[in-house]
Order: sequence, then C-alpha cells, then structure tokens
Amino acid sequence: MRFREPLLGGTAAMPGASLQRACRLLVAVCALHLGVTLVYYLVGRDLSRLPQLVGVPTPLQGSSNGAAAIGQPSGELQPREAAPPPPSRTSSKPRLGGASNPDADSRPGPGPGLGSNLTSAPVPPATALSLPACPEESPLLVGPMLIEFNKAVDLKLVEEQNPKVKVGGRYTPKDCISPHKVAIIIPFRNRQEHLKYWLYYLHPILQRQQLDYGIYVINQAGESMFNRAKLLNVGFKEALKDYSYNCFVFSDVDLIPMNDHNTYRCFSQPRHISVAMDKFGFSLPYVQYFGGVSALSKQQFLTINGFPNNYWGWGGEDDDIFNRLAFKGMSVSRPSAVIGKCRMIRHSRDKKNEPNPQRFDRIAHTKETMLSDGLNTLTYLVLDVQRYPLYTKITVDIGTPS
Ligand code: BGC
Repeated sequence: MRFREPLLGGTAAMPGASLQRACRLLVAVCALHLGVTLVYYLVGRDLSRLPQLVGVPTPLQGSSNGAAAIGQPSGELQPREAAPPPPSRTSSKPRLGGASNPDADSRPGPGPGLGSNLTSAPVPPATALSLPACPEESPLLVGPMLIEFNKAVDLKLVEEQNPKVKVGGRYTPKDCISPHKVAIIIPFRNRQEHLKYWLYYLHPILQRQQLDYGIYVINQAGESMFNRAKLLNVGFKEALKDYSYNCFVFSDVDLIPMNDHNTYRCFSQPRHISVAMDKFGFSLPYVQYFGGVSALSKQQFLTINGFPNNYWGWGGEDDDIFNRLAFKGMSVSRPSAVIGKCRMIRHSRDKKNEPNPQRFDRIAHTKETMLSDGLNTLTYLVLDVQRYPLYTKITVDIGTPS
C-alpha cells in the first residue's frame, strides 16, 4: 500500500513520511521552546530581560559608558547604548498619588511615540547568561573612610567620577546579579549643598557594595511645616513605579557613613544603619533610636502600614516607626558601633522644621494610630519629576497639618 503526501509535499516513497516530517517539526518546536525556557531560567526568571537577550532593543535599556569606575571587569555582554539622558523631565500636569488613588501612576506621561514604560527609570542593563549572584559580602569594600565637608563639591565632576551611574541615579553591578534592589529615599527641602556631599560620597560606596540601586530625592513643595515621614512614604510609592525594588533605605540628606562595610541594604529584620553618629559621640543616643538612616524590606514596610503621615516638624516620627516595628513583633538589626560610624553635616535648624510639641503624645499612641495613619491613608500630589544624572528628584505637595 502506498501513501500519498499531498500536504507535506514528500516523495511518497516511504510509508509514514508525512508523519515523520510532522514529528520532526514538533521536535524542533519543542527544542525552541525548551531553549527559550532555559534562557528565562538562567537570567534569574526576570522576563523583562528577554528582549535584551534576544537582541530586541527596549526603549530605556541602560547603557554602560565603558570606563571602569571602581575596577570592575568590563568583559560582560555589553548592552546597546541608551539614548543620551534627557536634561530633565518635567511633568506638565500634577497627578494625585496616595491611598485615594493607589494604582494611578503619578508620573508625567511619556512623550509622543514613546512606549508607556517610559515612565520608568532605566531598567538594568543586559546581563550575560553566565553572570553569577553577587557574593554575600562585596570584595570591593575598603573599610574606614575619611569623610569631611570642607571642600565644595562639583556635581559635574561627581558625574565623571561615576560613569556607570545611569540617568536618575540608577546603578546595577555589571559582573554579578545583586539580590538587593534598593531604592534610597531622601526627604528633602532646600539642602542642595548637603545633597552634593551625599552624592559625592555615597555613589562610590553603593557601587562598591554591589547594590542594584536608585536614588530618590523627595522634595517637599511649598513653605508649610516639613514632614519627613510622609515624604518617605511618598518615596516608597513613587520608587516602586520605576522598578521592582525589594528594599528601601531611608536616609537623611546630611548623613554619610564612615565605613563601607555598613551596607545600605535590607536584612531579615529592619535595619538601623546610622548607629554611631558623630553628633551623639559615635554611639546610640538611646536604645530605641531609629533615626537618621534605616532600611526596611518592602514586606517589612508594608507590614507596619508604612510610616506615619501626621508628624509635622522635627522629631518623633522615627520613634513612632520604631514602635510600629515593635508592635508587629519585629526587632532591629544593627551594625557594630565601629562599622556604623557616620558623620553629620553641621547646620542650623531649618525654617519650618521646629520641634513638634505634639510628638510625645503621638508616640504614646502608635499602637492605635498605626492602623489608620500610614500607607493606607497617604495622599499627595506629584508636581514634578526630574531625572538628573545622579538622582531622581520628585517634587511633591504633601499638604499641611490638619
Ligand atoms: C526625637 C527623635 C530624634 C531623637 C534624636 C528624640 O527626642 O523624638 O525624633 O531622632 O530625639 O535627636
């Protein structure tokens, strides 16, 4: 009996030839599927990287500008060059953020013809398939550092000294995959000179720590009383619109670590980082102190309903945060007082940041208030987003004391 092969166009000389071809096709499709799955797996299951691996350009693919900032090898798969950083990006229309509008993107929209994900900061650059995980402790650390504030900082120079930092203040290690996706949130108003020192010192340190990080300066608009904790809540929400950060470091703009072993990352318990400040004689002022610089994982932050929104003026909000952690059964992890040394830039008290006389009463009631004051009641209006070469600045209207 002979079989005809009209569909597959075979010779029909061999019985089942069409079946064989169909099987071969099926095997080829399976092999392709297996290969693609393997690629996903090897890049740490990060599907967003697939287009880079298969050579498809993504709109905001980061670039490496080649020069080695801190002696890292550069032999890895190089990403394509990103478009030059825009001088700035300004929102034309303020958008509401916060609890009343939890899923809304409060960023300005993309320009004409650009993909919708252009509201994000640059994604990490393409990585070679063989990139290992970064080691538990970075081999690049140098230990104690001299920190001084007597010379003016030129940000152009800082940019040149940190060529691997991408627009918006984003950095991803090139030779290993960091598990620490850290958004550094700095509450801010009128402290540009301090910010320059912070950027000058911290960018090299954070790169040596092999963190996958972004810098967010949350600038309080207007002249009303400063509200540090509310700005930090805003930073948490806004940074997550850029990238899947899993860790949040909340840092005052005037605090610089003196030892790069004091890693700006998250731990299994909330981390207090600035444990030995010069202004407190290089020790903790009191055992519950959680001010200055601290780090919470995304989950830890969500567990405590974020930070309080109603501490206007100086003081108390960090004690409230400590209480929240304690009431949720968490403890505080800290480096030693040697590793945790840090310097504060001396300054006079800011206007509209006078000590808050209500703080003592408020911290006495954290247990009740933390349920109804935090991320779930956060409202704000983003007025402007600027992606500078070394940081992202988000100017926000957070209202006034109610
Ligand atoms: C305030 C804190 C402050 C600490 C150290 C406390 O009395 O409530 O907000 O961080 O003093 O200055």
